[in-house]
Amino acid sequence: MRIAVLVGGIGGARFLMGVRRLPAEVTAIVNTADDLTLHGLRVCPDLDSVMYTLGDGADPERGWGRAGESFTVGSELAEYNAEAPWFSLGDKDLATHLVRTRMLDAGYGLTAVTAALCERWKPGVELLPMSDDRVETHVVVSDEDGRRAIHFQEWWVRHRGKIETDRFVFTGAAQAKPAPGVIEALRDADAVLIAPSNPVVSIAPILGVPGIREVLRSTSAPVVGVSPIIAGAPVRGMADRCLEVLGEPVTAQAVGAMFGPRHDGEGVLDAWLVDETDRNTTIDGLTVGSAPLWMSSPEATEAMARAALELVEVTA
Ligand code: GDP
Ligand code: CA
Repeated sequence: MRIAVLVGGIGGARFLMGVRRLPAEVTAIVNTADDLTLHGLRVCPDLDSVMYTLGDGADPERGWGRAGESFTVGSELAEYNAEAPWFSLGDKDLATHLVRTRMLDAGYGLTAVTAALCERWKPGVELLPMSDDRVETHVVVSDEDGRRAIHFQEWWVRHRGKIETDRFVFTGAAQAKPAPGVIEALRDADAVLIAPSNPVVSIAPILGVPGIREVLRSTSAPVVGVSPIIAGAPVRGMADRCLEVLGEPVTAQAVGAMFGPRHDGEGVLDAWLVDETDRNTTIDGLTVGSAPLWMSSPEATEAMARAALELVEVTA
């Protein structure tokens, strides 16, 4: 049995901790639109969150980066007023970016580089970036410096989204190709799951890579999404702020409707799993089911994944 999962960073990583307990071959297609270059190094926050979490190397309290991390290089860079002081780069984490950048500079694609990094981390699932091409989420904002586009990480980490915001732009997406193996993984899966990740800046950029939405709409396998919103709030993170920028309500209903039913317009879903507190949710054209959606442990999260598959009568 094969399962393909679309994922962002922390929400995606936690979801995969449950999915990988199923008796299935799992391929995760990871958002790379958060990626940025700092000090000449290519940083891939979502790929690293997933890799460190599944490889048992993530900091459980902080939620991002490595456990037992130190910030010696980062504080030295700050003394120089070097670029992006708002973005923490841990010493251990820097080693990942050094290895990645060296391999990219030598001509390897991000997919091959990720596979090489995963030889160390052994995540237990196949990790594929959504694309080897550079796609970056930029955010159109206005403040006393006028109207301009900033990198998503600057918007998120530096401003915490608290700045007048017009819209998100997935720069490079229209020209990007799905990474090697992505279309095959989606086409050959027995079921496709959309993780409870940020719908606006984690899942939407993946769907924005030409070819990915199309294969989801045409595959014979069922596609099920899991809501990242419970009772009108994101459990962790800032999905609420991102939905607000789009003018969407912060509800499980609105997010399910954004992804939309497969037989309608541009939709990608057959079914949508919401939390028990949202059990009255209905969306035209979609099977909606409910289950506890708090990812409090890998066991609880495995039960979520099973509930998602049961909605489309797939048994793992
Ligand atoms: P990021 O890239 O690190 O921001 O992580 P993701 O995009 O993968 O996921 C972030 C989103 O996951 C948050 O905005 C929440 O909406 C959602 N999330 C986090 N924890 C939980 C949980 O326990 N249950 C559910 N249903 N959603 C969660
Ligand atoms: Ca992210």
